[in-house]
Amino acid sequence: MLSAPKGTHDLLPEALATWQYFENTARSIMERANFHEIRTPLFEATSLFERGVGDTTDIVNKEMYTFEKGDRQLTLRPENTAGVVRAYIQHGMDRCPKPVKLYYLGPMFRYERPQAGRQRQFHQAGVELFGLDTPQSDASVILLAWDLFTTLGIPDLALEINNVGCFDCRDDFKNQLRAILLPFKDSLCEDCQKRYETNPLRMLDCKSEKCKAIYASEAVANFLEADHTCEACQQHFNALLIILTQCNIQFHHNKMLVRGLDYYTRTVFEITSTHLGAQNAVCGGGRYNGLVKTLGGPDTPAVGWALGVERLISLIPPQHPASLDFYIASDDPGSALLLAQQIQHQGFSVEVDLSGKNLGKQLTQANKLQAGQVIILGETERQQNQITLKDMAKGLQETVDKDSFLTSLKRPPVSSVLR
Ligand code: ATP
Ligand code: MG
Repeated sequence: MLSAPKGTHDLLPEALATWQYFENTARSIMERANFHEIRTPLFEATSLFERGVGDTTDIVNKEMYTFEKGDRQLTLRPENTAGVVRAYIQHGMDRCPKPVKLYYLGPMFRYERPQAGRQRQFHQAGVELFGLDTPQSDASVILLAWDLFTTLGIPDLALEINNVGCFDCRDDFKNQLRAILLPFKDSLCEDCQKRYETNPLRMLDCKSEKCKAIYASEAVANFLEADHTCEACQQHFNALLIILTQCNIQFHHNKMLVRGLDYYTRTVFEITSTHLGAQNAVCGGGRYNGLVKTLGGPDTPAVGWALGVERLISLIPPQHPASLDFYIASDDPGSALLLAQQIQHQGFSVEVDLSGKNLGKQLTQANKLQAGQVIILGETERQQNQITLKDMAKGLQETVDKDSFLTSLKRPPVSSVLR
């Protein structure tokens, strides 16, 4: 038997009720904050991720699905910031009024060991805000994520935040960190020995117990306790923390938080849940002032985040698929289909018999489908331009004029409910 590839999951209708609830809520919250959706290809040139995510990251080194077609090297997107930045540059969006505020929803692909909270195809929702370098723009995207989580009723979330400095001050910091860690270098894990050379900040993100103990030791902890970023970075970060406090958002300044990607500058943050076990991060993001220029665009500051949809959805109470509003039982398929369409246009769900069952069996089918009401459209009703309405729960039945029934149906279309 064929089954879905390892690390991927089918999403069946039962589960999708919760997904749709999440997606509708996310879209409506992002649109109301004046973010607009962008959809970029699921695959891009491999070089985009090598340059945009960074070739010292786990994503680029170990996790990419890369393939060749013709003379092109392509990669299934492992994340979407690089793709959005590529599109921002390609379509000259820097000419739009600033800030440019974009969001996306969709699948990402990473070749990782599948486990709880980790798939090879998973989904992210994310926002990117281009063109501003202010602490208030950092605050606005964090607030947006927080608003989404609060609206979805997600309990026990924590916001961890840190300032990793800018391109001016970070090299100094990296060198000082190397100096502090030099005596421990040989005891670090193999990955951290490499990171020591290529990207020492990411050592602080190491999951190995041996390394964690070293980074928590007195000398290193004391060093990290002090702020090693420049005056401008410190001012930016302090202003951000003041705004978050004003907006009643609790945060923990975690000086070990660095995040995996190279392009972050100044603000980095992560939102974690105590209900997720080892893979506890729901959302990660930060400021990435260097990326647009790195990918060949004009020097443009930017800030954003991405959340893991599967992890988030596991924290939402399961939603149930919408129930069926009407079942039309009729001995005349054409009239039934036409009436079904008219009722659907009023915003209700309708099922009709498509298999040629007799009226009695159609009523049994309506019961099985748990239709809220059955519309009987028999020969007598058709001749009088009437319908018989049967409320299945109450067992009540009445015959009414068909046109008056249609005009009395008033549910706003689904799209306006969402906005
Ligand atoms: P982690 O520390 O969990 O590996 P990450 O730093 O690789 O996360 P990001 O690249 O920041 O993750 O992606 C943002 C979010 O996407 C994560 O917080 C997580 O919720 C989700 N995510 C990342 N990788 C996976 C995966 N393989 N399967 C499911 N969700 C994932
Ligand atoms: Mg990861």
